[in-house]
Amino acid sequence: MIVAVPKEVYPGERRIALISQTLPSLTKAGLEVVIEAGAGEGINSKDADFEVQGGRVEQDRHRLLSQADIVLMVRGPGSDPDFPAADLDALKEGTTLISFTEPLAQPEIMKELAERKLTVFSMELMPRTTRAQSMDALSSMATIAGYKAVLAAADASPKLFPMFMTAAGTITPSRVFILGAGVAGLQAIATARRLGAVVEAFDIRPVVKEEVESLGAKFVQLELEAEDAQDTGGYATAQSEDFYRRQQELLAERIKNSDVVITTAAVPGKKSPVLIAEEVVAGMRPGSVIVDIAADKGGNCAVTKPGEKIIHKGVIVIGPLNIPAEVPVHASQMYSKNISTFLLHMVKEGKLELDLEDEITKGALVAHAGELVHQAVLDALK
Ligand code: NAD
Repeated sequence: MIVAVPKEVYPGERRIALISQTLPSLTKAGLEVVIEAGAGEGINSKDADFEVQGGRVEQDRHRLLSQADIVLMVRGPGSDPDFPAADLDALKEGTTLISFTEPLAQPEIMKELAERKLTVFSMELMPRTTRAQSMDALSSMATIAGYKAVLAAADASPKLFPMFMTAAGTITPSRVFILGAGVAGLQAIATARRLGAVVEAFDIRPVVKEEVESLGAKFVQLELEAEDAQDTGGYATAQSEDFYRRQQELLAERIKNSDVVITTAAVPGKKSPVLIAEEVVAGMRPGSVIVDIAADKGGNCAVTKPGEKIIHKGVIVIGPLNIPAEVPVHASQMYSKNISTFLLHMVKEGKLELDLEDEITKGALVAHAGELVHQAVLDALK
């Protein structure tokens, strides 16, 4: 079977779905890997790097896609809403596409892919289970986002993060508040701690308290109890508007006293909850920084402008949209490991064999044999 790896076409995307070092694991499993010429440019990989590892390089994108049985991408259709129609037209019926596809935000596009009789796996839908850990690309990318968000905040802040005791006096450490202690939030805590900040964090899932504390941060307790805060998959559940209003009020003072706030609060398939009201931003000390990495789903802060860095009443508010693409080498390394482990999970004797009873295969499968097959995506279409 031919596995095609096209060059990413989304503006600013520098990652690649498969790095040359991972390629041999696919050829050993009996697959043939074909890379589009120049696909590794964003990570400074040359075509020859892929050829040395047993891959073939194809100059013509249409020819690459039309011969593919399996296509591996970072941003597939949906994840890139302007995905070229010519690319889709090039794919033959029955081709398997594995990539990020934003299936819950773009269910109409998923429907179109199903009608084109493509088999589509969304990396976003990978179950967060122990068995699927090595295939969990969202966690890999969130790790990078959490780390990089802290660096962006440190860079934008007019203050230092660590305490310095110098001949010129003592510099007090920055106070960093992390809102949402999932994968990105925990990495943000660890990074802010490594830089010497005093760190506090809050999450509606009380089970993360121990993890927060083990990283050296203080877990903030609020007089607020979420209803069934966590679903069976370990993700947060959506709460009522009243709950979020009360949460905003309870967090306001703490946020106003922070030098840096990193927000990562997310509920899968939903818009990000707004947890910082405009008045709270206006009440922060000028020069304070908010990095809202939930900006990709609208943002946790009322004044965030997705994709922009703004100054609101003296407060710097950054809403980054594609942080992993800013660290393309390691983001691609992690993604490549995740996607190839997933693919190999489904390959037997050089052939793709879908076990539709398997929780990982079934969990990530969106479209197959002309049908949309994922319940959450079908629900999102209603
Ligand atoms: P995650 O599901 O692991 O973590 C989100 C956390 O938010 C969970 O721990 C959840 O309990 C918490 N949460 C939900 N509602 C909350 C509330 N009301 N108050 C406090 N906490 C709440 O998700 P993740 O993988 O860490 O990703 C976090 C966010 O970062 C997502 O929005 C994701 O899309 C985004 N992200 C952005 C980029 C980027 O480039 N901007 C890259 C990767 C991830």
